[in-house]
Amino acid sequence: MSSKIKSLKYNGKWDFSPSIESIEDISLKKEYQLFINGQFQKPISKKYFPSINPSNEQQLTKIAHAESKDVDLAVNSARNAFNGHWGKLPAKERAKYIYRIARIIQEKSKELAIVETLDGGKPIRESRDIDIPLAAAHFFYYAGWADKLQYAFPNRTPKPLGVVGQIIPWNFPLMMAAWKIAPALATGNTVVLKPAETTSITALILAEIIQQAELPPGVVNIITGDGSTGELIVNHPDVNKIAFTGSTKVGKSIMQSISSTTKRSTMELGGKAANIIFEDAPVDQAVEGVINGIYFNQGHVCCAGSRLFVQESVYELVLRKLKDRMQSLVVGNPLDKNTDIGAINSKEQLSTINKYIDLGVKEGADIFQLNCELPNGGYWCPPTLFTNVSQSHSIANEEIFGPVLAVQTFRTTQEVINKANNTPFGLSAGVWTDKGSKAFNLASKLKAGVIWANTYNKFDPTSPFGGYKESGHGREGGLHGLSPYLNLE
Ligand code: NDP
Repeated sequence: MSSKIKSLKYNGKWDFSPSIESIEDISLKKEYQLFINGQFQKPISKKYFPSINPSNEQQLTKIAHAESKDVDLAVNSARNAFNGHWGKLPAKERAKYIYRIARIIQEKSKELAIVETLDGGKPIRESRDIDIPLAAAHFFYYAGWADKLQYAFPNRTPKPLGVVGQIIPWNFPLMMAAWKIAPALATGNTVVLKPAETTSITALILAEIIQQAELPPGVVNIITGDGSTGELIVNHPDVNKIAFTGSTKVGKSIMQSISSTTKRSTMELGGKAANIIFEDAPVDQAVEGVINGIYFNQGHVCCAGSRLFVQESVYELVLRKLKDRMQSLVVGNPLDKNTDIGAINSKEQLSTINKYIDLGVKEGADIFQLNCELPNGGYWCPPTLFTNVSQSHSIANEEIFGPVLAVQTFRTTQEVINKANNTPFGLSAGVWTDKGSKAFNLASKLKAGVIWANTYNKFDPTSPFGGYKESGHGREGGLHGLSPYLNLE
């Protein structure tokens, strides 16, 4: 070995040389406009808001703020497209446009991944390997369904609903846009979509992609703004359906607003998932799954495994391995390919997370945090776990939406089923065991829409996703994701 090459030494933690993704080829516009009727248009109010890079608090660009008249224009253009060319287009022609969008996303995947990371703070490894490929996969998958709806729903006559209003959050910006737009187009609807205020840029690049794919004007309209813009879409009389992903609080207020109308809805809301380790589980694999379950995307995941239940007999072992594994996580520059934990999405979200961490300590739980240096500037939270947690603690009950894990123990299967179901949410759960029968037993008794066995946070466009209780209603993904966009006569 040449004397110039230093050999890597392991002293409890690997030291990696930085491997920063180049942003040389990325040029963001100074201002992003509203995408209405196939064109980029300035907002009538001429108002803009800044989009900030959460890892250094620098302004990336300015985003147009849509108000009432802009929302009217967007909904009218979606209605005209539905009543016009798009509504009459044979299904196989619709499919070709959706395929085209998928292919262009693949072509632009590097740019999209970098922008997703700059705008949202998530590690480049995640945007590159998960967000963007899954967004393309969703368009590919639903393109395949467009001309096969009569096989999906035999002996029925599937008909599109009309204009759908779609409101998405900031945790998976492009992927959420794909989850919403792809099934809506496959089923023949037209769309008005609003991304979250802190992460609008990739949705606007998607608008450019839609333009490049020559989708007829008005079929997809992407308008930006804050919660008030979302409210205007929800309350617009010419919108036939609302598809929402976000907090349970806003989901409830949307349901109230549309309760006296004929608007259809799908709600993908919060979660407080149980991740359960039995004594017969492969412990190393389970610990890896717990780490991925809660610290993936800084814990900004509705299905995050934020409540860990460990069988008492393996508690000490699991906890030791969990803490060791936490110490090896790399927190820092989201553009560094070595980074495991990026920046918290916004100042507001950081203060929410810190409020819960303080509350956990105040309510008597024991805190353990990754001992690491956090970057100067930007919004950061080290991976955190709490032990000595009881069922009544706020950190065990409420959605934190950050890298905070609450650990509890159990002795019997029935006890863990009771504890896991003791939540107003019901989105997801994970079970770690060597016994298939135990996994199937839990899968039938846990009240959650998605249950993973010996894995966690696995997403696939062919597989339905959604919850019940306060986690919402309706399914996205798979064949099940088609019916919320159809009238089935
Ligand atoms: P919100 O539910 O407020 O935001 C989700 C989307 O809804 C955003 O596009 C938002 O716009 C929009 N919106 C906000 N208010 C309204 C309204 N009254 N009518 C229609 N649309 C509206 O989530 P936050 O971003 O405020 O996050 C708060 C908490 O919600 C988090 O701490 C987390 O616990 C939870 N959350 C859960 C998510 C999930 O997937 N389950 C996703 C995001 C958050 P804008 O961003 O511009 O305000």
